[in-house]
Amino acid sequence: MRIDGSGTLRASCVLCPNPGPMTLDGTNTWVLREPGSRGVVVVDPGPDDERHLERVARTVQEQGAQVYTALLTHHHDDHGGGARYFSELTGAPVRAVDPAQRIGGDGLADGEVIEVDGLELRVLATPGHTADSVSFHLPADDVILTGDTVLGTGTTVIADPDGLGAYLDSLHRLRDLAAETDARALLPGHGPICTDPLARLGEYIDHREERLGQVADAVRAGAATPAEVVARVYAGIDPAVVPAAEASVRAQLAYLARRGDVPAEAGGA
Ligand SMILES: [Zn+2]
Repeated sequence: MRIDGSGTLRASCVLCPNPGPMTLDGTNTWVLREPGSRGVVVVDPGPDDERHLERVARTVQEQGAQVYTALLTHHHDDHGGGARYFSELTGAPVRAVDPAQRIGGDGLADGEVIEVDGLELRVLATPGHTADSVSFHLPADDVILTGDTVLGTGTTVIADPDGLGAYLDSLHRLRDLAAETDARALLPGHGPICTDPLARLGEYIDHREERLGQVADAVRAGAATPAEVVARVYAGIDPAVVPAAEASVRAQLAYLARRGDVPAEAGGA
């Protein structure tokens, strides 16, 4: 499915042409508006790419609408690097969890309800990919905008070294919300819309738990350092990614130790 131009009644995607290994097809900029209203909310204007930002602004203008506010799902450049120019183009404030990312706008608090010209969004703190990651629930369309917390394809990188526990909690919060509200789609920061939220969130949780189980098993089988765990769990991986794998294992060991699944000393060395 083409993501550009797709969406729901209130949300439509403008795809930024910045494809890459971390950005999949590119960054999804979400344009949200209550039908019949003038005020638009833009979630993640995107990277500092003038043509993309101008295209988003033009798309809104062509609808006879106006950007009232821009929101960032987190501080990464591919989501908010163009926020300053976008704010200049549209006159809209930029709201973000990270004070350094705000432009004439407030922060975003967990549980907060944002109302813009008849459109209602609920903020859900979903740290893990980064400490400042949030998702936005759009109840009128029964969808959740997930930023990089849940992607359209593949799995998310936990960029925060201490973020694994928080990330798993966030996935459980999202799954609970999706179940309670019978959510019909996730609108991710990259990749296509996911129309089976409960299955996707279940897969994400299972994937993390499976890896954690493998790491715990490696420790029980005698692996005493992150390097030894990597040698067992990620046997045969490209030597170039071994440091990244060790960092990931170190984070998993710390989390498993906190959970009481492995002894604390397993994370050492
Ligand atoms: Zn990101």
